Amino acid sequence: MNIILIGAPGAGKGTQARFLEEKYGMIQLSTGDMLRAAVKNEEPLGLEAKSIMAEGKLVPDALMVGLIKTRIAKPDCAKGFILDGFPRTVPQAEALDAMLKELGKKLDAVVEIKVDDAALVERVSGRFTCAKCGAGYHDTFKPLKQAGVCDSCGSAEFSRRNDDNAETMKSRLKAFNDQTAPILPYYKAKGLLKSVDGMADMQKVTAAIEEVLRV
Ligand code: ADP
Ligand code: ADP
Ligand code: ZN
Repeated sequence: MNIILIGAPGAGKGTQARFLEEKYGMIQLSTGDMLRAAVKNEEPLGLEAKSIMAEGKLVPDALMVGLIKTRIAKPDCAKGFILDGFPRTVPQAEALDAMLKELGKKLDAVVEIKVDDAALVERVSGRFTCAKCGAGYHDTFKPLKQAGVCDSCGSAEFSRRNDDNAETMKSRLKAFNDQTAPILPYYKAKGLLKSVDGMADMQKVTAAIEEVLRV
């Protein structure tokens, strides 16, 4: 199964992608994670993306399409992929269609996770991640079981994104509403769009996603 998770920053895409990975053996392709790795390793792409990301704006389509095109053709995507953070513009969605056609692959569903703006700000403000295994947490909504220790891998090192603040969130939400939301009708017209209520707790959202993927 090949799916896209769409939702504003903090909607729960990464959280849900991890559940789906574990349950169905699909692979999560997070363009945000790929970009953050490129920034950290000071790759040319990272150097170009760094300040754009810090401002909460979108990285140019051509760069993103090139990144996904190389990634999606790799053998580990054969069992299915979950796109998290891509496509984010209509031109990216069109480019994705073209590259899937070339590879003889198809999309099975596009799942929209809907969350109110106020809740999004609260979610990104409390978000942190295990620096070793990437497990995601939240100060209030998904605290560590044991203080200072990752539930999944036992590491004691965590990181917070520097764009996860109320100020940058304003431009990220604007980018979502102006540039990403227009891809919803694009997929609706293809009969692929499924929406779930992302305001519910994490397990309920997972159940709702499994439900829409079953049909
Ligand atoms: P979130 O999970 O909070 O929605 P991401 O980790 O997906 O955020 O993305 C972080 C930043 O990386 C974005 O604000 C944007 O600058 C950049 N980015 C990620 N994916 C894309 C994309 N497909 N197109 C353009 N920019 C992107
Ligand atoms: P995205 O990938 O869409 O930006 P994340 O999956 O990283 O979003 O979730 C953002 C933050 O909100 C994380 O700290 C996560 O633990 C928390 N979170 C995710 N889903 C829920 C939910 N249904 N209810 C409350 N908090 C959630
Ligand atoms: Zn960990």
